[in-house]
Amino acid sequence: MPLAVTKFATCAGCACVCDDLELRANDERIFEAKNACELGRSWFLERPVSKVEATINGKPASLGDAIDRAAMILYEADSPLVFGLGETTAEAQREAVALAERLDATLDTETSLTHGTMELAAQLGGKVTGTLGEIRNRADLAVYWGANPVKTHPRHLERYSVHSTGKFRSRSDRTFVVVDVRESETAKEADVFLRIRPETDFEALTALRCLVRGQRIVRENLAETGLSFDQLRDLAERLKRARYGVIFVGMGLLQTRGKHMNASAATSLGIALNATGRFLVMPLRTPGNIGGADAMLDYATGYPFGVNFSRRYPRYNPGEFTAADLLERQDVDAALIVGANAMKRLPDAARTQLDRIPTIVIDREIANATVSITTAPAGISASGTVYRNDKIPIGLRPPIRSSRPSDEFVLRRIRDAIPD
Ligand code: SF4
Repeated sequence: MPLAVTKFATCAGCACVCDDLELRANDERIFEAKNACELGRSWFLERPVSKVEATINGKPASLGDAIDRAAMILYEADSPLVFGLGETTAEAQREAVALAERLDATLDTETSLTHGTMELAAQLGGKVTGTLGEIRNRADLAVYWGANPVKTHPRHLERYSVHSTGKFRSRSDRTFVVVDVRESETAKEADVFLRIRPETDFEALTALRCLVRGQRIVRENLAETGLSFDQLRDLAERLKRARYGVIFVGMGLLQTRGKHMNASAATSLGIALNATGRFLVMPLRTPGNIGGADAMLDYATGYPFGVNFSRRYPRYNPGEFTAADLLERQDVDAALIVGANAMKRLPDAARTQLDRIPTIVIDREIANATVSITTAPAGISASGTVYRNDKIPIGLRPPIRSSRPSDEFVLRRIRDAIPD
C-alpha cells in the first residue's frame, strides 16, 4: 500500500507544538515522522486509531448506548465534575465548557495540578506576555528555572530559544542559564548552571529581585539557597544587562513548596526587569494542549480553570472548585474525565474517591471506568486546533482517517442526550 505524505503536520506531543513535520502514513498507521524528536515520534507512531470501542461496567457496548449511559449518570448526579482536557483540541474543550454549563457542573483542567500557580500569580500581580517567535528573533538571555526541556520539550531550545537562529539573534549572541536542584540534561548544556537547594526558589528569586532593584540584602540569609552572594549578584547583573530576556519556569518551581508564591516571585522579578529591558516569564506547559484549555475557559467563562456552574453563572475559586480538592472532600458524585492521563496527576486520596463514584472516561484507550469511550487521537486522526506554549493557536493536519469519533463529537452527543 503506498504511503501518503502529509507536509507541515503538527505534533502535540508537548507544548512546543512543532508544525514543521513530514509524516508518511497509510490508512491505519503512521510509519515515519520526519523532523520529530524522539518524544514526537513515539507520540505519532504509537497512538491507536483502530475501530471505536466503548464499554459500560467493563462490558462492550455500542457507542450510542455508552453515550446515553454517560448522559444519564451526569444528569442524575447532584454535583458532577468535568475534568482533564489537556490532550484534546480547543473545539472539544469548547464542547466541554458547554456540557459543564448544561449540567451546572464544576469544570477543572490539568492546569490546577500543573502551571495553575502561574495563572494565580498573574492575577495577583500582572504579567508581561510575548510569543516564542519574538523570543527566537530577539532574546539574548534565556533562563530555565526548575525545568528540563531537553527531556520534556525536546525541540524547545532548537526552535524557540537558545539554539535557534532568529532575525536579530543566534546562539553566539545568547546567554543560556539553568537554575535547578540537580544537574539535568539541560543544565549540562548551559553557559551558567546554578544548583539551588530544593524548596528555596522563593528565597532565591526574592533575593534576585532585591539585587536587580539595588536593594540591600542580608548575605547570611542566602546560605539556605545553596547559592553564594557572588553567584546571585552575577545572575542579577546578567538579567539587568539583557536587552530581551526570558525566564522559562517549569514544574520544579511551580509545584514545589511555595507554589503560587514561587510563581509570584518569578513574575515580580520579570516585572522589575522590564525597567531596564524587555523581559518575559513564561511557564513550560505540559502536556499537549493545556494552554488551549486555559484560553478556551478564559474565553468562555472569564476564568482559566476551577470553574463552578452550580449557580447558573461561572464562579472561580481555586482550592474550592479544583478537581483534587473537590474529590478529596468527597464533594463530587460523578465525574467525566477527558484524557485518562489527567487522573495520574491527581493525589492518591482524589483517585480513591474517583474509584467510589460513577466515572466516564473519554480517551484513546479503554479505561477502567463505569463508561469508557475511545476516540480518535487529535493530530493523528482527528482535526482541530491546539495552542502552543505561548498560546498561539495552530491547526492540526491529521494524516489518517479513523472510524472513531472525535472528543468534540462525543461531548456534543452526550450534551444532546441529557434530558431537558
Ligand atoms: S518537541 Fe514536542 S511538539 Fe516538537 S516534535 Fe517533539 S514532542 Fe512533538
